[in-house]
Amino acid sequence: MIRPDSDIKYLKGVGERRAQLFAKLGVPTVGALLRFYPRAYEDWSKIIPIDEAPFGENCCVRGVVVRKPEANLIRRGLTIYKTEVTDGKSLMRITIFNSRYAADKLVQGEEYLFFGKVTGNLWGREMASPAIERASGGDRIRPIYRCTEGLSSNVIEMRTAAAIEGAAESCAEALPRDLREKYDLLGIKDALTQIHFPKSGGELEAARKRLIFEELLTLRLGLSLMRSGKRGRVGVKIERDRTGEFLDLLPFRATNAQKRAVADAARDMMRDEPMNRLVQGDVGSGKTAVAAALVYSAAKNAVQSAVMAPTEILASQHFKTFSSFFEGTGIKCALLTGSLSASEKRAVKEKVKNGEINLLIGTHAVIQKDVEFLRLGLIVTDEQHRFGVAQRGALSKKGVNPHTLVMSATPIPRTLALMIYGDLDISVIDEMPPGRLPPETYLISGDKRERAYNYIKRHLDRGLQGYIVCPLIEEGESELFAAREYKEMLESRYFADRKLGLLHGRMKQAEKESVMSSFAAGKIELLVSTTVIEVGVDVPNAAVMLVENAERFGLSQLHQLRGRIGRGAAKSSCILVSDAQGKEALRRLKIMASTSDGFKIAEEDMRLRGPGDFFGSRQHGLPELKIADMMTDTKLLALAVKAAEEILRDDPRLKDEKNKGIRANVAELFRSGGVSN
Ligand code: ADP
Ligand code: MG
Repeated sequence: MIRPDSDIKYLKGVGERRAQLFAKLGVPTVGALLRFYPRAYEDWSKIIPIDEAPFGENCCVRGVVVRKPEANLIRRGLTIYKTEVTDGKSLMRITIFNSRYAADKLVQGEEYLFFGKVTGNLWGREMASPAIERASGGDRIRPIYRCTEGLSSNVIEMRTAAAIEGAAESCAEALPRDLREKYDLLGIKDALTQIHFPKSGGELEAARKRLIFEELLTLRLGLSLMRSGKRGRVGVKIERDRTGEFLDLLPFRATNAQKRAVADAARDMMRDEPMNRLVQGDVGSGKTAVAAALVYSAAKNAVQSAVMAPTEILASQHFKTFSSFFEGTGIKCALLTGSLSASEKRAVKEKVKNGEINLLIGTHAVIQKDVEFLRLGLIVTDEQHRFGVAQRGALSKKGVNPHTLVMSATPIPRTLALMIYGDLDISVIDEMPPGRLPPETYLISGDKRERAYNYIKRHLDRGLQGYIVCPLIEEGESELFAAREYKEMLESRYFADRKLGLLHGRMKQAEKESVMSSFAAGKIELLVSTTVIEVGVDVPNAAVMLVENAERFGLSQLHQLRGRIGRGAAKSSCILVSDAQGKEALRRLKIMASTSDGFKIAEEDMRLRGPGDFFGSRQHGLPELKIADMMTDTKLLALAVKAAEEILRDDPRLKDEKNKGIRANVAELFRSGGVSN
C-alpha cells in the first residue's frame, strides 16, 4: 500500500528516473506530491462558442477538425502545422508549432477541446499552440503545475491523481473536528482532492480556504511557541511613571502620537508582566524620543536599559542623541561597539555590572555577548525596517525578563503585524512632527546628471547639505557607480571647491564615526556614500539626495534612504537617477516619485517581492509558505490569528492529544526555517 511518507519512486508510474525529477521540484515523497499544489488552473469546463471567444484571454473552445493539419516548413527547424476547426457556426484557425506529435493527433472529422489564448480579428479567430484534448476527456478544471525538463505538468497531474487515489485516505487530519466545524473547513482528504481536481470554482475556494487557514495557523502558532517561554513571568516593574517629566525636558513638543506611544508603554512597564510592544512609525516620526522617555523613566526607578541598533553608525548616533537628551538629568549612557579597545570594553562592562551606567547602547552582537547588568529592566530594539524575529527570541533568554520595546519604521497592515509579531502589542506613530515637508522626488535619466549636480550646488550655496548614494564601494560591475571613484570624479570635475566626504561599510568604525560627525557638524557639505546611511542617520540640515542606479534598490530601502532628508525646516529634494528600461523597475521608481507614504510603499514592496522576501525570511526564520499569501489572504489571516489565540488559551504548549496534528504541522513548517528559540 502507498502511504503519504512513501518514497515517491514507489508511486505507480514514477520509478527511479522520474523520482529524481520529482526531487528537483522538492517532492521526495507521496505526501509531498499531495502538497505540491497547482500554480494555476485551466477551466476546461466552460466551453465558449468560437464567435464569442474573447481576444487575448485563455479559454476553451470545442470544435470538429475540418481537415488534416498541413505542414509548412518555414525554415530549418521551424515547421508550422495549420488547420481549421468548426463548432457548427464559426471557424477557427489552429496553428501548431514544431509538434508533429500534436498535429498527428488531430483527425479530420473528430471533435476536440482546444484551450489557449485567442487572437485574430473580426474576420477570423485563431489559437496558436493550444492544449488539446479529446472532447470526451475535458469538461473539467485542470491543474497546472510548476514543472521541470522531462516532467511535464500533464505527467505530474496524472501522478497526483494516483497519489490521491492511493494515499489521500491515510493522510493524517491535523485540525481537530471542533476547529474545522467552527471555521467551516474541509477535512484534509477533501481539501487535497479538491485543490488538485476541483469540480467547480466553489470546490476550489473551499479547498484553498482550508489549506491557507491551516498554513497560516501553523505559522502563527509556531511564532507564538518560539516566544512563549516569556509568557506570564514577572519583569522588573516600574513603580512610578516618570515619562511626563522627560517629555517636559524635550527641546520640542512631543506629538500626540508620540505621547500616546509613550503612555502605552509606560502603562505596560508598571504591570507584573514584561512589556512586549512594537512601536511603528514612519522614518522621521520621532521614535527615538519615545524610547528615551521610557529609558528615562526606567533610570529614575533605578532600572537599567539597553538600546540596540542594527548598525554601529546608528548605535553611535543613538549614543549622541540619548546623551544630549539626558544632559543634566544625571542619567549615564555608554556605548559598547566593536571598535572599543579591550580595556575600554572591560571598563564599560564593569560599570554596567555595578549599575553606574543607566543606559547601554550597542548593536545586537555586542549586547548578546557576556554583558552583565545589575538590574536590566528595559530593552529597546531599533530595527528600522529589519525584522529580527528569531533574534528577539534569543534575547529574552538573557535570564532577566526585561520589558521589550521594538521600534520599526515599516508600517505594515495590522493583521500582518499580528501574524508576524503575534503577542506584541502595537503602538502606531501616525503623525509627523510639525513643519515637516515631505521630500519632492524626481526620476531622471543619466543624461540629465549635470543639471542635477547644478541643482545640488544651489542647495549647498544656501548652506544646506546633501547625500549622493551609490550602489557599490569600489569599481566592480561596469555599469554601476562606485562610491570611491564617484567622489573622486565629483571632486575633480563638478565640485572642486566643495567639501566632500566618503562613507562606506568597509571603513573602520572610527573612520565612519569621524566622517559622520564631520557631516553632522557641517564640515562636510556633500557626502558620497553607500547604503550605510540607509538606517536612521539624522542630520536635519541635509536637504538634497541623489541616488545613482536607483533601480538597484528595493522600494523600502529607497524610502529609508530618502528618509535621511526632509528632517529639517528646508524643503528637500530626492533625485533618483536611472537608465533602467525594465517595466518592473520603472514601476517601482514611479511609485517612489509619486508618494512619500511609507505605508503605501511598504505594501507595494511586499506585493512586488512577496512577504517572505520582504521580511528577510532566510535570515530571520520566517518559513516559506506553500499556498498562503499574507498580502492577499487577509481575511483568512485574521481568522487564523484568532484561532491560534483560542487554541493557545486552552493549550499554551500544544500538549493536548487533540492538538497533536497541529503540533506536527508546526514542527514540519519550521523544520527548515531555522527557528529554534
Ligand atoms: P525616527 O522615527 O525615524 O527614528 P527620529 O527619532 O530620528 O525619527 O526623529 C527625527 C527627527 O525629528 C529628529 O531630529 C528628532 O529630534 C526630531 N523630532 C522628534 N520628535 C519631534 C517633535 N515632536 N517635534 C519636532 N521634532 C521632533
Ligand atoms: Mg530612528
